Amino acid sequence: MFGGRKIWIVFAAMASLTLGACEQFKQVQEEREASTTVDGAYLADLGTGENWAATGYNYDEQRYSPLTQINADSVSELGVAWFADLPDARGQEATPVVVDGRMYISSAWSKVFAYDAKTGEELWSYDPEVPGETAAKACCDVVNRGVAFWKGKIYVGTLDGRLIALDALTGAQLWVTRTTPEDGNYTITGAPRVVKNMVLIGNGGAEFGVRGYVSAYDANDGTLKWRFYTVPNPSGEADDAASDEILQTAKRTWSEGGEWTESGGGGTVWDAIVYDHELDQLYIGTGNGNPWNHGARSNGEGDNLFLSSIVALKPETGEYIWHYQQTPADSWDFTATQPIILADVSYEGVGRKVLMQAPKNGFFFVLDRTDGSLISAEPFIDGINWAEGYDLETGRPIENPEARYYRTGKPFLAMPSALGAHNWHPMSYNPNTGLVYIPAQQIAAAYLPPMNDLEKVRKPIGYNTGASGEGFTLPDDRTAVKAAIAATKGRLVAINPVTGDIAWKVEQETPWNGGTMTTAGNLVFQGTALGQMHAYAADSGDLLWSYDVQSGVLGGASTYMVDGEQYIAFLTSKGGAFPLLIGEGGGAANAVPNIPRLIVMKIGGDTQLPALPKQQPIVWSPPTRIGTAAQVAQGRQLYMRYCSVCHGGGAVGGGVLPDLRRSAVLADTETWSKIVLEGALADGGMIGFAPVLSETESEAVRAYAIDRAHYGAEHADTAQPE
Ligand code: CA
Repeated sequence: MFGGRKIWIVFAAMASLTLGACEQFKQVQEEREASTTVDGAYLADLGTGENWAATGYNYDEQRYSPLTQINADSVSELGVAWFADLPDARGQEATPVVVDGRMYISSAWSKVFAYDAKTGEELWSYDPEVPGETAAKACCDVVNRGVAFWKGKIYVGTLDGRLIALDALTGAQLWVTRTTPEDGNYTITGAPRVVKNMVLIGNGGAEFGVRGYVSAYDANDGTLKWRFYTVPNPSGEADDAASDEILQTAKRTWSEGGEWTESGGGGTVWDAIVYDHELDQLYIGTGNGNPWNHGARSNGEGDNLFLSSIVALKPETGEYIWHYQQTPADSWDFTATQPIILADVSYEGVGRKVLMQAPKNGFFFVLDRTDGSLISAEPFIDGINWAEGYDLETGRPIENPEARYYRTGKPFLAMPSALGAHNWHPMSYNPNTGLVYIPAQQIAAAYLPPMNDLEKVRKPIGYNTGASGEGFTLPDDRTAVKAAIAATKGRLVAINPVTGDIAWKVEQETPWNGGTMTTAGNLVFQGTALGQMHAYAADSGDLLWSYDVQSGVLGGASTYMVDGEQYIAFLTSKGGAFPLLIGEGGGAANAVPNIPRLIVMKIGGDTQLPALPKQQPIVWSPPTRIGTAAQVAQGRQLYMRYCSVCHGGGAVGGGVLPDLRRSAVLADTETWSKIVLEGALADGGMIGFAPVLSETESEAVRAYAIDRAHYGAEHADTAQPE
């Protein structure tokens, strides 16, 4: 009897469980049927603006929304509708994607979050559990620039080189595929794109040494469909890839020997991958060479295809169609990976299908995308000195010979520099005004050949640029430092692609400002490194509205509509290459708090952001100096070689990672060595440097950091709160 009752209870429990699961399943099914089918046809269209279904809005990636509820008249009533704090105080670079009232973002460490786009309720989250030590392979923070939505699935690339498909409704992992070799220096920070049921993804790593490529995977199961390498195989062998044939030709633009044969040459496809649904072509932007120094990379010979190029491919097969190389024989980290926008524009009544890009090198490129021919290349910042312009016949830059530092053997103070006249921060195009809105910047840096073997010889850890680290280190002279900070600026540029004229511009105190987004409401939105969200009139550039968002803004905003209300969504934080690398040169932005957060605004929104945490007074307690002057000098060299790209030039923190000068560990040789050599903090990204540093060298770096702590204490204006 007893046994029978037990069975009955179990049976009843199972029945109710099944009923619950059934209900849930039914609900999921109903929601699936009611949802918009985001596919190729959907992304080819401008649509109503209700959804922001792809990272760049749709296939054209204009980041232009037809919504008008928020417009020049109503924008001043914008307030916070809801916000969500994010777990990691690192760079947040994604543009929120919204489909059917659900929002999807990727965050630092490639984590994905889904929210109810109206209420802000978190629906699910997904952590791919990227190993912390991967951070040491990332040139520019542990960022991720967004997810792709396609037929009910979400796709994300992870920092450690995986491509992952998730169920958009539940966040359940559907498939995972590794898209980079595990032992390479590859990372993924870019957003995947989906074309013809294939997920396209590239990768980064060209500062360390990799061979760039883009891959296409079946959206249903993650099977590799094709791969296109951007640089010839140094072994001379075929890769059995879509690029095999064209790379036979490209190989003639590389030297026989040279460091590229060891490093892979670079040319990584780390951001722009854009599909042209009208011409059925795919455009990829490729990165810089490895090492940067063309003299070391390719013996100073050849253009080095396809570095710093836009390459058109056939979407089905990945076969080459055409290319245009912006910076032949790149030696300055002038990538052509920056966002690409497709548009139809009219030249004196003649319509042309164009592709537009404002890459790092400072010229705004308009190409005829039918064949890749150069229409125009106009400067969008001041003082460009590596080239005076472009020869439109040949498509080549008219170079300043002094820019090739490896030939002259002399330093070249370049404008722009590796951080770019424009970096990855999204730009936008408004078809009503005919203007492109570029988050531009003025950042100079010096390039000079390696000063010693430490800089010259390739290392298994850290950047291998073949150039000296001196170029990103400020001198001790306070007048020079102040002048450098003052000259480092941001600029929002509205450029007319047809005339090349700058219609309007906004000067900004600091660089590394957020991406832009534009709407049919005649608005341009841009957040800044100084913690403001601004709206400008798209036609005139008049500042219409500003809002204190408490922290920096890096990425682009998106806009969408739910239940008749228009929303603006964006992420805040500090991070990416600039604050990690630039040290004191970050200026006023260094002191801005780092708050990782998703903020969503609407007209009449009345949610208050939490009060800022009280700033702690800056305390300097530099430990007693150690080492001789020679050891400090040695430590400075080692610091520039291995530490400065994350901990900042001159050991000045940019407000993202701890300022080493005020680290308690400075005084403690044992703990210092456990962290620096043995990797005690590897989970956070600080790997052990024992493979490249001896105990004595590690102590020399400590001696240098203590020296910088004393310098900081004497010049308190270098201090940033953490
Ligand atoms: Ca680079």
